[in-house]
Amino acid sequence: MLEKILIANRGEIALRVLRACREMGIATVAAHSEADRDLKHVRLADETVCIGPAASSESYLNIPAIISAAEVTDAGAIHPGYGFLSENADFAERVESSGFAFIGPRAETIRLMGDKVSAKNAMLAAGVPCVPGSDGALGEDPEENVRMAREIGYPVIVKASGGGGGRGMRVVHTEGALLNSIALTRNEARQAFGNDTLYMEKYLEHPRHVEFQMLADTHGNAVCLGERDCSMQRRHQKVIEEAPAPGITPEMRDSMSQRLIRACLEIGYRGAGTFEFLFENGQFYFIEMNTRLQVEHPVTEEITGVDLVREQIRVAAGEALSIDQSDIRIHGHAIECRINAEDPVHFLPSPGTVTQYHAPGGPGIRVDTHLYNGYKVPPYYDSMIAKLIAYGPTRDIAIARMRGALGEIVIDGIRTNIPLHIDLMNDANFRKGGANIHYLEKKLKAGP
Ligand code: ADP
Repeated sequence: MLEKILIANRGEIALRVLRACREMGIATVAAHSEADRDLKHVRLADETVCIGPAASSESYLNIPAIISAAEVTDAGAIHPGYGFLSENADFAERVESSGFAFIGPRAETIRLMGDKVSAKNAMLAAGVPCVPGSDGALGEDPEENVRMAREIGYPVIVKASGGGGGRGMRVVHTEGALLNSIALTRNEARQAFGNDTLYMEKYLEHPRHVEFQMLADTHGNAVCLGERDCSMQRRHQKVIEEAPAPGITPEMRDSMSQRLIRACLEIGYRGAGTFEFLFENGQFYFIEMNTRLQVEHPVTEEITGVDLVREQIRVAAGEALSIDQSDIRIHGHAIECRINAEDPVHFLPSPGTVTQYHAPGGPGIRVDTHLYNGYKVPPYYDSMIAKLIAYGPTRDIAIARMRGALGEIVIDGIRTNIPLHIDLMNDANFRKGGANIHYLEKKLKAGP
């Protein structure tokens, strides 16, 4: 087993990884920025290394600084968390060539799945259903592109192969707007991602976002831990996630699981990963793979009882998964609310000192957060400060517990989106289950 792990991340996920390491008897190194000396996991870690100034580009994205932090502390492995360098193939390569284990897939897998055109081709080859669209990258021939869009049928969406975080895509409703949209998206993609490869897909108008959690080891085993529904989104950012996804039958789940396990084996997947789909009219359409642990992983942990971080660490240490597909049983329902330091109406970030923090409790309540009384939320990073997770034997009980916990939690001194979550827990359409990805934006636009 690994003896020491360097955690190259911050906030709640760094603490989550630290807790898993402690449970497994593995020493921890917190690699942190100058602005993060007071983070909870930094205080709890066995060793700490400051890797640079507050700006992520000089710390959490600073590959040489992170590698040397691992060298000076003699860590055996690096956990990248999510965001930052977690899906950077060059980083994974540097970590491994420097002699450390990367807690994630091989660099070549990250590269394959990070490029959306190659990811889609790999999934089609493995028999995973994709959104109908261009076969591979769009060419430069305008007539050919017009012909292709007609064949797919409007509306279409033009997407950057190197895109991410909801950027680098444009919906096109009419032929008149097509060529200009392609040119604009190409320009943006070149500037934002340094890669102007584009592709085209049918634009699905009312889909849900449903994703499948996978784990694979280096001994030829892969398992699927069921799905999550992450349709409650604002600006392509997930706000609430739940598992299982309402309305997905055991037959649908089993059939997807089998295909996705095969896909993982075909691409030589290693560690934790997620296949993301749009789900419309009973059909799944692959959109992308996330080759890392996800923010919403706890809802899957709650309904399966599998510790995803522990399994990631086992796999990185070269061990086999501790479970196989026949061990995966889904029990009950779990919901996660992402609590952000932001104004609940205008969504502007609200950093500052947390003057008072009280955690909620009771059956089925889990809080993944680095908050404590007096903690100062810095302005430099993502605004998510806590994940509140409610588990229940049924979806209704999970919602009831979530409402109770949202009423109990106290975070004073800064503004948070807790009022929005309370509103959603009382929303008839959320309570019914199965709302589509546009629901939240429409609700917010309509006002109270
Ligand atoms: P990113 O890597 O930027 O998150 P994705 O390919 O996962 O990009 O797409 C992000 C979001 O954009 C999806 O969750 C969905 O809301 C929307 N989207 C992407 N492709 C389509 C499509 N073909 N039809 C409808 N919506 C889409």
